[in-house]
Parts: sequence; structure tokens; C-alpha cells
Amino acid sequence: EATTDLDVVAGLLRDVPDFPSPGIRFWDLSALLADGPGLAATTRLLAAPGGPAPEIVVGIEARGFLLGAAVAHSLGLGVVAVRKKGKLPIVAASESYDLEYGSATLELPAGVLRPGARALLVDDVLATGGTAAAACALVEGAGATVAAVSMVLELPALGGRERLDGHRVHTLLTR
Ligand code: AMP
Repeated sequence: EATTDLDVVAGLLRDVPDFPSPGIRFWDLSALLADGPGLAATTRLLAAPGGPAPEIVVGIEARGFLLGAAVAHSLGLGVVAVRKKGKLPIVAASESYDLEYGSATLELPAGVLRPGARALLVDDVLATGGTAAAACALVEGAGATVAAVSMVLELPALGGRERLDGHRVHTLLTR
């Protein structure tokens, strides 16, 4: 049997028990990103979510920056960085969402997302979906549309796909 892109990706994922706190199984993409064929396979798969052709890529801090830039480049598109609060000097909008303890805020840079543009959102892991839902809200709040959300790994037990109901959600693997 020939080795597929998906086999390559699956073989380079690492999970770390009890990080960053007891009971959490953390999925680490460092080895995948550091591997040339691994990054290429990941990029090809993330760049093909199905649905309408995207016109711009939105990468979610921080691993979504690395993956988003690779996907954007592979499609000949530009990339927008959705960042954690306080990092961007010129902010179009902020969106807060609940974490297990406390909350977080994401921000969209001003003047880079054209109203009506079809955006492909990219991140590494879909857990509860709170992060991706906030990023979708920022994109749609700017008048753009979410063509799809592409992520390497989905943790279905945490309900992220349901939280993103109404959006095209493309994940490569579930764990
Ligand atoms: P969530 O908002 O709950 O979907 O969490 C998604 C964000 O948190 C992503 O940006 C991931 O990078 C990170 N994340 C959440 N859970 C994990 C996990 N088990 N392993 C690795 N990253 C995670």
C-alpha cells in the first residue's frame, strides 16, 4: 500500500499526557512542522477543505500562523493573523470567549479583510471550538465569510464541531 499524506501526518503527531495541567492530553505538532514532507502533506490536506474557493487565509495564534502561512502560500493567497489581545497595533474588532477557567480575547487587524471575501480559517487543534468560533465571529463581523475552517486534529468528545454549526469544518484526524 502506498503511503498517503494522511499516514505521514498521523505518524508525526505526538501526544503528551498531563500538559499543561493534570488530565489534559496535549497534542504537539512540533515534529510534524519540523519535517519537510510532513509539513507539505499537512499543507496539501488543510488547503483542500472542499466548498467555495477561499480568497484569503486566516491563521489563529499561534500554531495557526505557521500552518496558515503555509496553506496561504500553497494556494497563492495572503494570510491574516488573528491574534491574542494586546498584540496588534491597529485592531478592527475584538471577540472574547470562555475558557475552562477565565476567558480569552482574539483580535482582527484592521484594514486587511475585504468585506465579502471568502476566508479559510486555519488552526492546529479543534477542542471545544471556542477559539475557532471567536475567529469566525471576527471574520463575519468584518463582513467577510467563512469558506471553511481547516484544522489538523479534532477532539470530538469536546464538541467543537457542534459549536461551529453552520460552518464547513475540515479536520484531518480525530483522536
Ligand atoms: P478550543 O478553543 O477549546 O477549541 O481550543 C483550541 C485551541 O487550544 C487551539 O488553538 C489549540 O492549539 C489549543 N488546544 C486545546 N486543546 C488542546 C490539546 N489537547 N492539545 C493541543 N492543543 C490544544
